[in-house]
Amino acid sequence: MVEHTIRSLLREGVILLRESGCPSYILDAELILCHILDMKRIDIIKYRDRVLGEEEAVDFFRLVEERKKGKPIQYITGCQEFMGIDFCVRENVLIPRPDTEILVEKTLELLKGKEKLRIADVCTGSGAIAVSLAYYIPHAYVYAADISEDALECCRRNIERHQLGRRMKLLRGDLLEPLFEEGLEGKLDALVSNPPYISKKDMDSLPTGVRCFEPHLALYGGREGMDFYIRILKDADKLLKKGGLLAFEIGYDQGRALKKIIQDHGIYKDVRIEKDLAGLDRIVY
Ligand code: GLN
Repeated sequence: MVEHTIRSLLREGVILLRESGCPSYILDAELILCHILDMKRIDIIKYRDRVLGEEEAVDFFRLVEERKKGKPIQYITGCQEFMGIDFCVRENVLIPRPDTEILVEKTLELLKGKEKLRIADVCTGSGAIAVSLAYYIPHAYVYAADISEDALECCRRNIERHQLGRRMKLLRGDLLEPLFEEGLEGKLDALVSNPPYISKKDMDSLPTGVRCFEPHLALYGGREGMDFYIRILKDADKLLKKGGLLAFEIGYDQGRALKKIIQDHGIYKDVRIEKDLAGLDRIVY
């Protein structure tokens, strides 16, 4: 029987991943091994010569195979950092993206200094936005709504993980419906959302890892990608307090169209678009 060490397994994993065309083959081999051994990356560097059991090696190669097929590393390790917070992720739930941090940052900035806030996040998915807002605004109460049971289960784990259960509530239902059922009419200081917004034509050009492994329920926003914004806008004003904040993540080419739809609504005074770090339109608020 061959003896496996951290070093030898990593070497084999790196080669397998590199041959498969995986772009981040070294890091991903390390992350997979860290996940299996429940160790930090620094420790697999420190203990390179530790001898590993056959079972650990079998698990490692099984997960390397999954990564070779393009499964996102976050679905393999079950976690993703977002806004400096560790999030659990699982299949059928969109992986939190750095693009979305700008929506959280902007919301935090605009709500700064306000007391006793009530905030809702619809299409919450893993809860990345909702949990971050509750985490960084200690006096806020945050509702996290989604239609997907898998998403709510994942969000629940994230709420528990960060002990935010006393200031957060999960709601299941279609877009704003559960917020109305909860009696939140006229009560929200902010309504935020990163709904599915990928248009029909852009669905085909998504990277393979996204297209083949992430839930289309969380991505596809109808022909032009605008369906969910339009449906949310129809009733969002009824939930918001006067002067409340409405903020959306958007696709790179949706800023102007969405701004116009919101302005045509007539209620929202000041509609702004903001760019992400790549210089692309990323939020409308
Ligand atoms: N930003 C995501 C992507 O391009 C899409 C997120 C969404 O549809 N809300 O993969």
